[in-house]
Amino acid sequence: MSLSSRYQVLFEPVKIGPVTAPNRFYQVPHCTGMGHALPHTLAAMRAMKAEGGWGVVCTEYCSLHPSSDDQPHPFASLWDEGDVRNLAAMTSQVHEHGSLAGVELWHGGSYVANLASRVPTIGVRSMPSPGEPVQSQRMDRRDIREFRRWHVAAARRARQAEFDIVYVYPTHGYLLSEFLSRSLNDRTDEYGGSLENRVRLIREVLEETREAVGDECAVAIRFSADGHGEDHLSAEEAHDAVGLLAELPDLWDFVVGDYYGEEMATSRFVAEGSLEERVANIRRLTRKPVVSVGRFTSPDTMVRQVRAGVLDLVGAARPSIADPFLPRKIREGRLDEIRECIGCNICYAHNYRGAAVRCTQNPTMGEEWRNGWHPERVAPGDGGSVLVVGAGPAGLEAAHILGKRGYTVALADAAQEAGGRVTLESALPGLSEWRRVRDYRLTQIRTLPSVSLYLGSRLSAAEVREFGADHVFIATGASWRRDGVGRWHVRPIGELAHEAVLTPDDIMRGARPGGRVTLFDDDHFYLGPVIALLLASIGAQVTYVTTAGSAGEWSHYTGEQDATQRQLLERGIDIHTLRTVQGFDGREVETACIYSGKTWRHAAATLVLVTSREPQDQLYRELVGEDASAQDLDVQRIGDCRQPALIAHAVYAGHRAARELSIDFPTPRRDRVVL
Ligand code: ADP
Ligand code: SF4
Repeated sequence: MSLSSRYQVLFEPVKIGPVTAPNRFYQVPHCTGMGHALPHTLAAMRAMKAEGGWGVVCTEYCSLHPSSDDQPHPFASLWDEGDVRNLAAMTSQVHEHGSLAGVELWHGGSYVANLASRVPTIGVRSMPSPGEPVQSQRMDRRDIREFRRWHVAAARRARQAEFDIVYVYPTHGYLLSEFLSRSLNDRTDEYGGSLENRVRLIREVLEETREAVGDECAVAIRFSADGHGEDHLSAEEAHDAVGLLAELPDLWDFVVGDYYGEEMATSRFVAEGSLEERVANIRRLTRKPVVSVGRFTSPDTMVRQVRAGVLDLVGAARPSIADPFLPRKIREGRLDEIRECIGCNICYAHNYRGAAVRCTQNPTMGEEWRNGWHPERVAPGDGGSVLVVGAGPAGLEAAHILGKRGYTVALADAAQEAGGRVTLESALPGLSEWRRVRDYRLTQIRTLPSVSLYLGSRLSAAEVREFGADHVFIATGASWRRDGVGRWHVRPIGELAHEAVLTPDDIMRGARPGGRVTLFDDDHFYLGPVIALLLASIGAQVTYVTTAGSAGEWSHYTGEQDATQRQLLERGIDIHTLRTVQGFDGREVETACIYSGKTWRHAAATLVLVTSREPQDQLYRELVGEDASAQDLDVQRIGDCRQPALIAHAVYAGHRAARELSIDFPTPRRDRVVL
């Protein structure tokens, strides 16, 4: 297949100052949870994007000096020669594929706490770090001079590491954006007061960076197209600031001021391409090329924004994680094969937890070096047959990969529709893009003649044996518990009027309680709040009770917690945090403070329990028998029926089992410094 003329424009080279991007696909800086800690892993992951056709591949935020250390989040760094060598591994591999490598030089200012380096933090004035009981030291003139010197030294090291694009980064609340802020910057010298003064340091750093990197490297700037809120930098001031700096950088990388709420919001809250208008407005102020993001997965949206002159380069972080080969697939006319990002932010959450990035849609993300996994290639199998029971994300991914490896696969599901939990959950408010997990795999499976899908087929152990496949994968999922057992209750809740208790499974299969409903969320992620919203939207009077300190607390890591809580409050849902449910008699729910044990009672006709899940592994257990070793059958369980977890875990489990079937895989490599 070949490139449709419609998409030709995406493959035009773009000049960025002294360097030329081979096409318009630009992987903007995005965090990875790898950074300085996992250099081989990082280099191989970035190189995979270049192989997949991204014309520019950037690092994540890359600390320019030990006074900017974001531990426990693994940031990249360019502090010394060792960092130069590590990052040179990335640039050389990116260059092998003809792509450019960019580095986002970063200083966190008052935002960081320097937990590792223990160097005092610096800021435009002394203020608390958002996450630690630490305040920064106000920068005096000498500190500003020092900072400029560090930036220059890091830019030189970036060149040593052979980066082609070096960023100046005055946004996202970090040091240079502190200077831009009308409220935080209370300086009375030439760096404070008027906008021109507040922009001065950025201007100096841009000029000095250019001088430091020489004439074979471009200088980019990442800047908010709508400022940082009225208190800091209004949209109007942001425009004026761009006017002041317009032609200084070689490239403008536009973001927006609301990082969690918009720029990197999940698909629950923000749709593809939401920055368009603001970028279109601000880009008129410069003749330099512009890149921006928008969780772009549709080539038509990309083309439209390029043709409309909004973008010169199509920026992507998450779409490049979900599909490192997105550009090549467009180029080769393989649009059906694009693994579209679902906007769940599981990638970001793991960086936040200090772990290497992973992806719901792309199970090979982060495994390129450790396990040698390629997102588009798998080794052929031994030609046998496999029965996969359960067509949820685990079973679908397994069948897809087994089919690609040449196995004859029968994929059976009891339901009339494939997708398991993904099909059910994606019908809930805001989760419709999650269908892509199912649809991508079904589309792939349809192209594989050796894979047959049998819906409406609930299989018993006898039927599985009778089927006679060489290998059996059990992917039968998990069900939500009806007894309240979860994080808080290790035993079933004593008093429960069972006839008036519902689980998420009931709601997802159509139960719609009205009147007074209490939802007990001991799961702490998205499902409790999403179900509470659904019930409120059909008129139920919902009380949300959680043992956590906030609604959907774990969604703090996906960047959604604020928006989640706001949404519930706006819907009129009564929120009780740090409380457990002690009992429910069908008329009243008794709740208790998790610290003091103080109890309250409130009226409720229905109690929805979102506590924990029970693996549906009966079929597996019947097959393997008492001692869990079916002598006559090669059977394994994958996904939620083994370990109830995120959809990302289920996809990964299905992928791993399918990729490794009949192959003696080497032990995964460990990325670390060995003395
Ligand atoms: P996972 O996330 O591990 O993929 P899901 O719960 O999403 O798990 O999917 C499990 C699927 O298994 C569901 O679609 C369910 O209908 C199916 N299933 C469960 N038991 C059987 C069975 N005995 N035979 C066929 N399909 C089954
Ligand atoms: Fe997209 Fe989710 Fe993958 Fe992140 S984890 S790239 S948001 S699909």
